[in-house]
This record gives sequence, structure tokens and C-alpha cells, in this order.
Amino acid sequence: VLLRPLPQVTGANKGIGLAIVKDLCSQFEGCVYLTARDEEKGLETVAALEEEGLSVRFHQLDIDDEESIAAFKTHLEETYGGLDVLVNNAAIAYKGSATEPFGEQAENTIRVNFFGTLAVCRSLFPLLRPHARVVTLSSIVGFLPDVNGDEPQAFSLREKLSSEELTEDELSDFMNQFVERAKDGTWREAGWQSCPYSVSKVGVTALTRVQQRAFDDDPREDLIVNCCNPGAVRTDMTSQRGVFTTEQGAEGPVYLALLPHDVEEPKGEFVWHNKQVVDW
Ligand code: NDP
Repeated sequence: VLLRPLPQVTGANKGIGLAIVKDLCSQFEGCVYLTARDEEKGLETVAALEEEGLSVRFHQLDIDDEESIAAFKTHLEETYGGLDVLVNNAAIAYKGSATEPFGEQAENTIRVNFFGTLAVCRSLFPLLRPHARVVTLSSIVGFLPDVNGDEPQAFSLREKLSSEELTEDELSDFMNQFVERAKDGTWREAGWQSCPYSVSKVGVTALTRVQQRAFDDDPREDLIVNCCNPGAVRTDMTSQRGVFTTEQGAEGPVYLALLPHDVEEPKGEFVWHNKQVVDW
């Protein structure tokens, strides 16, 4: 068992994930894992960090590939026996100009952003040590949509997603229902928004709340998960548009990754880039 903190960041070969890795490397002594789905890109990034004097480890991890997740889990288990910090950063977003059919965009986006994140969590959560911190990147669009009384389907969906009784399996069913409705063209009637990326981020925000409830009942003490809106950050995802640099975008996630032992809050919350907890 490694006694020092061992954080790991998904999708970290560029963008906000890379900035999170750099920040984590410089804030404490311990092993930081940069993971990437493309081994070549990941190793190139690690070599560049080493030239900057930062020491970081690499492992391939495609959050959309069960075998890749299982291999990484085995590696962590056999090498360290546990994990102290997990940052779920990896995600995809279709550009507004994308020509793929809506149903296809929905299926791929929900599979990677929601189910990929869920698969990583389900695999690695058993390795979390007491006082572990988990951070999932959500978004400004990860809020429950505003609805009014003449949209009963959307209202009912909102009630169900925000329920304190929601389970992981029910949430997964909702995400699958969105994909089915997106494919047959009836997603609006079912109360869903017209942006698969938004739905995937609403999904991970809801997931965070469900996961914290499980952590609260876990025998391991002081496990905390939060999700974060990093702000509008200039990365490839945003075609380099946004107000923040990647370093600024990393500040919120890193703050949550390094929450001190036994803090009272935030726990299971949606946290803004300026560290404020928002009502989702
Ligand atoms: P980028 O597109 O720059 O980076 C995304 C990263 O995720 C890349 O490293 C990419 O790898 C990786 N990735 C995608 N799919 C997978 C996969 N299946 N397995 C492993 N890694 C994968 O995006 P950002 O840095 O902007 O975004 C980082 C996070 O922040 C995302 O969750 C995003 O939704 C969120 N976010 C970003 C905002 C912004 O303004 N930029 C605003 C709100 C939230 P590869 O290089 O191989 O494609």
C-alpha cells in the first residue's frame, strides 16, 4: 500500500486534464497518473512534462473500453493496492457543425461521457482508500433544465433525476431512454433537451449525488465525490474559445481533488469554478 497520495486523471493528454495533472504534480509529493486513450499521445505528453521537471506516471486508459479499464484497475491494485484521488475528466463533444445523425451523436456522447465515467467509477471505487476524493467534470450545461407547468414530461423527468431516492441503475435507464428517444426522433416529447452533451453532463451531475449517498454509508471513512463546472475554457473542445486558460480551468477540479481530511462540505455537490456550491 502506498502511503502517499496517488491521484489519477482520465483523458489527460491535453486540455483541462493536462492542466489538472500539472497542478497536482506541483502541489504535493506523490505519484500522479496521467492516463490517455492513445498511448502514443499520452507518452509524448509525459515526456514533455518530464522536460519541465515534473514527474508523472502513465497508463493507457480508454474510458469507453471495459478491457482497458480492467487492465488499469489491475495495474493499480497490483502496484499500489489502492487509490486516493480520481479525476473523471475525459469526455467528448460534437461540434455544432457535425453532420452525424442526432441519434448517433446521442448514443456516442452518452456512452463515453456518462457510461464511460460510470464504468471507471464502478471499477476503481473498490480501490479508494479512506479520505479518497473523486472529482467529475460536469459543465455549465449540467444543470437540470428549467421547465414550467405546461411541460409535464420535462417536469416529471426533472423530479425523477433530482430525487434523493434515485439509484445508479435508474439513472442509467434514463440515459438509455434518452438515446432511444434520440434515435426515434421523440426525445423532445419525452422531456429531454436537444443537446446530447448537456444530457450527458446532467447525467454525471446526478450520478455524483447518487455516489455520495453510497459513500456516506461506506465503511471506509471520509470518502467524498463532487462534480465541477470548470468555466468556459480555451481547449480543443471549445475550438479554443472561452474566457479561461486551462490552468484557470484546473483550479476548481484541483481544489476538490485536494479537499482536506474530514471537511464538512462540499460533498456530493455541483461546484463552480470559483469554488461556490450551486443548486443544480
Ligand atoms: P478536450 O477535448 O481538450 O480534452 C478531452 C480529453 O478527453 C482528451 O484528452 C481526449 O483524448 C479525452 N478523451 C475523450 N474520449 C476519451 C476516452 N474514451 N477515454 C479516455 N480519454 C478520452 O476537452 P477539455 O479539456 O475542454 O474538457 C475536459 C473536461 O472538461 C471534459 O469533461 C469537458 O466536458 C469538461 N468541460 C470543459 C469545458 C470547456 O470550456 N473546455 C467547460 C465545461 C466542462 P484524445 O486526445 O485522445 O481525444
